[in-house]
Amino acid sequence: MASPRPMAHPASWYVATANPMPDFPSLTGEAEADVCVLGGGYTGLSAALHLAEAGFKVVLLEASRVGSGASGRNGGQIHSGQRRHQDFLEASVGLDDARKLWALAEESKALVRDLVTRHGIDCDLKDGLILADHKPHYVAESHAYAAHLRDTYGYEAIEPLDREQMRALVGSPAYYGGVFDHGGGHLHPLNFALGLAGAAQRAGVRLHELTRVTGAVDSGGGVTVSTEGGATVKARFLLECGNGLMDGLNRQVDTHVMSICNYIAATEPLGERARSIIANDAAVADSKFVVNYFRLSPDGRLLFGGGESYRRNLRDNIPDFVRPFMLRIFPQLADVRIDYGWGGVLGITLTRLPFVRRLSDHVLVSAAYSGHGVALAPLFGKILAEAVQGQLERFDLLGRLPVPGFPGGTLLRYPLLVAGLSYYALRDKL
Ligand SMILES: Cc1cc2nc3c(=O)[nH]c(=O)nc-3n(C[C@H](O)[C@H](O)[C@H](O)COP(=O)(O)OP(=O)(O)OC[C@H]3O[C@@H](n4cnc5c(N)ncnc54)[C@H](O)[C@@H]3O)c2cc1C
Repeated sequence: MASPRPMAHPASWYVATANPMPDFPSLTGEAEADVCVLGGGYTGLSAALHLAEAGFKVVLLEASRVGSGASGRNGGQIHSGQRRHQDFLEASVGLDDARKLWALAEESKALVRDLVTRHGIDCDLKDGLILADHKPHYVAESHAYAAHLRDTYGYEAIEPLDREQMRALVGSPAYYGGVFDHGGGHLHPLNFALGLAGAAQRAGVRLHELTRVTGAVDSGGGVTVSTEGGATVKARFLLECGNGLMDGLNRQVDTHVMSICNYIAATEPLGERARSIIANDAAVADSKFVVNYFRLSPDGRLLFGGGESYRRNLRDNIPDFVRPFMLRIFPQLADVRIDYGWGGVLGITLTRLPFVRRLSDHVLVSAAYSGHGVALAPLFGKILAEAVQGQLERFDLLGRLPVPGFPGGTLLRYPLLVAGLSYYALRDKL
């Protein structure tokens, strides 16, 4: 099946408010490098940046435009922890590795803040993430989980919220309580990606857009990477950082990573009404299986993420698709215009843990943060860079995560995924 190829940079509020977007030339001819990086999202850009800073000669190949994948289209929300709760990780990998994974996730948030500061990236980075429960009995579970994070991991930045406290912060009748994670946050995702690209270029990375990798041969001494336009790169390593947009390139990745589409709408500026929707500068994500996530933009719009589709291309008429999700949470916005609607493709795995592997001696992959990559992807790119330098401890920890292949083989896995996800999405409506 053809891989999903969203258009380079859709019309979005992010594109409308993007910092200058330089063009990087397509690759022509034959290039040589220490490391070839596939993908100009957070994972690839961070891997390239960290390698260049360590003195490596790096060529980065991006099929479309830098930041035009999930990294330039997402909700911008910075979450704590991995995509799965710590108690799941404790049960599946043991307390010791679960502690290391928590520490990695804490480092990932710090790395985002450090990259923004160190490279002067102008991306509206703000602290604070509210996790809102849409079922009454979830509230006690959220509070117990917050206590577990405090007691077992020493994480103090999380505050339980009862229904009244939640209502004071989020003007929706849909929520019964939750937690306020002061260690979470949000940013302008496209400007973060563009800032990383600028930093990588200044560090010496050669970036090439409109250069799709079509194959790689690992001959033992290194890798020869071929591209759609006929150019090639000879490198010691290839880092595959194409996330949910890579399918068709490597069978092992295809078996473990599947792509789904998720959508966001931006309303017109809400003026004085904005603060009755979210009382402070925090972002919000809820407890639905298909998560609703939202925040206010600096110009007072509601950026509302809601709705997924389990097909291989983005749907049409996205504002009309997202609107009912938004109105279920904020019925008082029925009269509000939606100015932008866009979608993106993200990679997911069966266990929702990232797929980090050595595909052959000189080809490494890190992909599919299952909706948690704003914080995790830059660190995982850095961990790929460490692996290239022979520091394998963290890469191996991630490589041990239980990420079984999707059932069904190449023909049936997509219909099975659609059936499974549609069932859970339907339960959100009950
Ligand atoms: C709508 C949406 C909302 C989201 N919201 C959040 C959120 O609020 N918080 C959060 O933590 N996460 C969120 N995510 C997930 C997050 O955006 C991703 O986890 C993260 O951006 C992954 O970064 P990446 O670099 O691995 O992949 P991407 O940003 O997808 O980059 C991969 C790049 O590789 C390129 N590529 C693919 N194949 C090839 C090839 N063969 N040759 C060359 N280049 C190739 C693609 O064009 C693309 O630019 C969301 C995702 C979407 C789509």
